[in-house]
Amino acid sequence: MFKKILFSNLGIVLILLTPAAVLAQRTIPSDDQQLLYEIYKELIEYKTTMSEKNNTIAVEGMAAWFQAAGFEDEDVFIGGALPHKGNVVARLRGSGVHDPIILMAHIDVVEAEREDWNLDPFVLNEDEEFYYGRGTLDDKAMAAIFTANLIRFKRNGFVPNRDIIVALTSDEESGGSNGINWLLENQPGLMQGALAINEGGYGLLQNGEPLANTIQIAEKIFATFQVTARNPGGHSSLPRDDNAIYDLAEALLKIRDFDFPVELNDVMRISFQRQSEINTGQRAEDFGALLQEPIPEGSLERLSREAAINAQLRTTAVATLLDGGHASNALPQSAVATVNVRMLPGSDPQAVLRTLVRVVDNPSLEVVYRGGGRVSHPSPLTEELLGAVESVTEAMWPGTTVMPTMSTGATDGAKMRIAGIPTYGVSGLFVDRNDMRIHGQDERLRKKSLYESYEFLYRLAENLSN
Ligand SMILES: [Zn+2]
Repeated sequence: MFKKILFSNLGIVLILLTPAAVLAQRTIPSDDQQLLYEIYKELIEYKTTMSEKNNTIAVEGMAAWFQAAGFEDEDVFIGGALPHKGNVVARLRGSGVHDPIILMAHIDVVEAEREDWNLDPFVLNEDEEFYYGRGTLDDKAMAAIFTANLIRFKRNGFVPNRDIIVALTSDEESGGSNGINWLLENQPGLMQGALAINEGGYGLLQNGEPLANTIQIAEKIFATFQVTARNPGGHSSLPRDDNAIYDLAEALLKIRDFDFPVELNDVMRISFQRQSEINTGQRAEDFGALLQEPIPEGSLERLSREAAINAQLRTTAVATLLDGGHASNALPQSAVATVNVRMLPGSDPQAVLRTLVRVVDNPSLEVVYRGGGRVSHPSPLTEELLGAVESVTEAMWPGTTVMPTMSTGATDGAKMRIAGIPTYGVSGLFVDRNDMRIHGQDERLRKKSLYESYEFLYRLAENLSN
């Protein structure tokens, strides 16, 4: 028995045939909760950071679970851009009535230093309420859940009406070998699907009780611009008003004071509608007011003051890097600032560039677009998807609102949307929004949330393929 392992880099394709026996045997526990626990613990304890490079070892470990559960070798693929940047794609075959559903999660994590943490970040620690470790939330919870659920489907004899594909990938957080991009480009046949479920959506807790279950439908797009001021300079003992640093500073303050116009897509309209339903008092009224035309000034002003809400309303621009001058005793000959823009989905970077030029309003300054993410559009909020999420949410957490959202940061969802696969960030992982710890110290996840999400994602995939 051989397992096909494929890696390619810069057009060179390397096929390694590794004896399947290399994958150490796993024994599938009969208890569902134990099954998830063992997979989760194993995954947390692989150091899948940029510096430790254990991604391929981790995906081989997950492949060993699929193998132990009886998946055929041809249905478990391992490959990636580099030998240590492995991805695994496993397939549960269905009746083929519909195109497949893809359950995707990244297995790489951001760095975590032992001395920065109270606990070893690469040991699954626990107390009564929480599991602790790098990746317990982002994104090894979903990766472990999808792996365990595919095994449960098979064990339970479930025959879906479409293939259910689990894709566990590398380099979502950082590194130039993004697994989703690599799979889409190099193994498009493996990644054909009618829709995908990904990270990016969470359940929101209020006083420990479920309030809303979010679905990430869209993402803002990262773009980088540069503003440069130039000047002949001179001796600093003879200062003049014209000065590259002052000119640049003025331009940046204009950018600070400028608000891009409010633009609400359909997703955000539904989201704000539901926000108005789950909030109370002035806040509920303010969210409701966002749907009026024109939006009442007071409501818009109050909500725009909150960074997290302001970022949902409009494209934002902020100075993030600065460089200027060449000597402490010379008038600066140049000053350069990087302005990071998070564009609403569907925005055109060239239109943003024209806006920035207009805002800076100084023809002697140069404003250029330095590049960024590709334009992606929101996934359609279909009745099939929304209906499934709503019915499973209602069954598990009665009275909890399902809320579509747009992420202000980036996930692999945008890459899938660009490839034409509608992708939805939904996890049923309930977290305290004010204490998420993603990428931070002592990352953790409520035990109850992990096991409830396990059940939620099982029922959701079942519902979407029944
Ligand atoms: Zn993530």
